[in-house]
Amino acid sequence: MISVVLSFDIDGETLWTSRDKVNKIGPVMLSQGAYGPKEGVPRILEFLKRRNLPATFFITGWVIEHYRAQCEAIRDAGHEIGHHNYEHEWPCRTGAEAERAAFAKGLELVSGLTGKPPAGYRAPGWEFSDITMDLLLDSPITYSSNMMDADVPYRHVVNGRETGLVELPVSWSLDDAAFFMHGLTYGPPQYDPETVYSLWKGEFDALYNEKKDACFILTMHPQIIGRPARTAMLEKFTEYVRTKDDVRFLTAEQLASEY
Ligand SMILES: [Zn+2]
Repeated sequence: MISVVLSFDIDGETLWTSRDKVNKIGPVMLSQGAYGPKEGVPRILEFLKRRNLPATFFITGWVIEHYRAQCEAIRDAGHEIGHHNYEHEWPCRTGAEAERAAFAKGLELVSGLTGKPPAGYRAPGWEFSDITMDLLLDSPITYSSNMMDADVPYRHVVNGRETGLVELPVSWSLDDAAFFMHGLTYGPPQYDPETVYSLWKGEFDALYNEKKDACFILTMHPQIIGRPARTAMLEKFTEYVRTKDDVRFLTAEQLASEY
């Protein structure tokens, strides 16, 4: 059985402000981030509804504050909402005190939106500091989706002891940013969506052909995958996956709860 999770990180403008506070960030670069909640999220929600697919959205607290209607639409459509810090602070860069504050603020805003603490945490940049694991273990978070060391979910072992924290592993090869993310001073050339379809299909087929239980977790960003041709590619990919037996789509929280 291959468990497929469609996950979307909604960073909006905070993707850019967290990346490069030193350089001047002007309205055009910010507008690139705004495309995610403004255009990408509605397009993605339409596609998910059309295909009756569940998804998990990791949303920064700042985006919840500034794009409330879009976040409520995600919640009201029944999708899972996870924790992605406040202003997309990269844990490895902020220092312990600022990381604790960002973690607490993001947690509070997701809880306020959904009425319950989030189950999942995805660190901005998939980076952990020395204290991130302790923060998770001391919080209501029950799964992390950040590590790149496995094809199957597992429980974290910390200081030799198994914890209740489940890991849902990810990979740069299953991330839209690795192929499409681009800025004036950043990023690779943008790939043809058909090339990325072929790459993801190749990853999926090879895993599927191994005939074992595994997870296939796509990490995407509405400001990136939310472009029309890319969302269309994602839809085509999910339709391909659906032609296979022994495959299921579920939220990250649903998958984690089985471990
Ligand atoms: Zn992010």
